[in-house]
Amino acid sequence: MTASRTLPESVSPQAREFLAVAQHDHIIDGRSTASVDGSTFDTIDPSTETVLGTVAYGTAADVDLAVQAARRAFEAGSPWRRMAAADRGALLGRLADLVEAHADELADLESLDNGKPRRFARTIDVPGAIANLRYHIGSPARIQGRTVPVRGKDVFCYTTREPIGVCGQIVPWNFPLVMAVWKIAPALAAGCTVVLKPAEQTPLTALRLGQLALEAGIPPGVFNVVAGDGETGKALVAHPGVDKISFTGSTAVGRAIAERAGRDLKSVTLELGGKSPLIVMPDADLDAVVKRAFAGIYFNSGQVCSASSRLLAHESVFEQVVAGIAEKARTSVVGGAFDDDSYLGPLVSHEQHTRVAGYIESGRKSADLVAGGTIDAGRAGYFVDPTLFTTADDNAEIVREEIFGPVLVAQPFESIEEVAYRANDTEYGLAAGVFTRDLATAHKFAALLRAGSVYVNCWGLGDPAAPFGGFGASGIGREHGEEGLAAYLEPKSTFIQFS
Ligand code: NAP
Ligand code: MG
Repeated sequence: MTASRTLPESVSPQAREFLAVAQHDHIIDGRSTASVDGSTFDTIDPSTETVLGTVAYGTAADVDLAVQAARRAFEAGSPWRRMAAADRGALLGRLADLVEAHADELADLESLDNGKPRRFARTIDVPGAIANLRYHIGSPARIQGRTVPVRGKDVFCYTTREPIGVCGQIVPWNFPLVMAVWKIAPALAAGCTVVLKPAEQTPLTALRLGQLALEAGIPPGVFNVVAGDGETGKALVAHPGVDKISFTGSTAVGRAIAERAGRDLKSVTLELGGKSPLIVMPDADLDAVVKRAFAGIYFNSGQVCSASSRLLAHESVFEQVVAGIAEKARTSVVGGAFDDDSYLGPLVSHEQHTRVAGYIESGRKSADLVAGGTIDAGRAGYFVDPTLFTTADDNAEIVREEIFGPVLVAQPFESIEEVAYRANDTEYGLAAGVFTRDLATAHKFAALLRAGSVYVNCWGLGDPAAPFGGFGASGIGREHGEEGLAAYLEPKSTFIQFS
């Protein structure tokens, strides 16, 4: 890490302008706000290991200011609370339009800060954020109660669903803008107010989103952004003014948050890790398997919570599938975010690079290396080649633990019963999938697999309308759809005696 980044020529003028400021401040109560104690940290471009910008570092004092602002914005009678449901939805629509108008700028900032190839930031991340915001345009008007036939005489009972309050939202670095939008869109649609903490590795697009939200007309204090690290996140979780925590990230931190939130009786939604199995039956379309299993693990350099990181292929097709994926891995381009040919960008950070390198070392001891395994090509940037291991050992570390990098482990199986048991033999339960042309087999697996998302002949599909989240150590609750909105609402029963 040395001098400041010389930006690639194709970076948009808008992204350059955003990056040109001396310091990127929090957004608290509608204003750009430096930290109370003036502290800052640097955010790094992982393609080049250079400093991309200086960012305000949030301490407990900054979190407190943001929570107070969110609390004031949530008080009865505030402009936000008085706003008609349809108008709240319209504001989300306006924010979506602004994200669209700034699509190139946001994609550039995301690629520089996270390292993901810009073509994916443009075609997947930014459109995904827009779709999630637009899905919720109609949500406020769909928040309805019901009348309840109760036992009392001359008693009328109805339910309403009220916003839960001030939400602390903590997001990771793998899809920074998308994760921020997944959290703020349902919370704001529900009428909550938010303090969002982006990951220290990738704070820029969340801060830009906070600016755009103000431009869209979302009232000051409704959506605050406090940059910082795990300590900042901890302060947010522990703050007594926060009613709900929504977190996406590692299972270890999720557990710590759930413990603390349990003590304080705060509602939590946790979207955590995974070790998701993709099963290949002998009758599968093997070309489709190779293509989709490859993308399932190597897209975003494997830094995807629902990555298909464990491949279980029937012994009759195992070698063919492994050879197909290995060939694609050997010929795929690993490069900087702004190299147009890159399929895999760098990992997000030095820390993540070291962590993944450790798993590759572990894999070399417990499994056979078929492709990749290169962890230091002698250039700047946190690059790892797409790596493929095979092993029959279900207890190997690389079979059981989430690596969160471009490392796939493939294993053969003999029978349906055996593979379903092995696929479910994990503490996680985020995603699972099967490739088969047989309808009965597809339904059998869909029922057997213990995961929040099951994919048949595909992988990684998602939609703002379809619930997403995990069983077991993959989390608590769901994002997206009706369930995602309900996570920000408290039901209330009102009884009226009319005699
Ligand atoms: P992490 O520590 O779980 O970070 C996720 C978010 O939580 C970040 O914003 C982080 O802040 C914040 N945080 C950290 N400690 C906290 C605490 N005690 N209380 C409240 N917030 C806290 O994840 P990581 O260290 O970046 O990555 C480690 C591993 O987690 C990865 O290798 C991967 O296995 C897994 N992971 C999973 C997902 C997923 O989508 N399921 C996403 C990311 C990582 P700072 O990062 O700013 O310190
Ligand atoms: Mg960065």
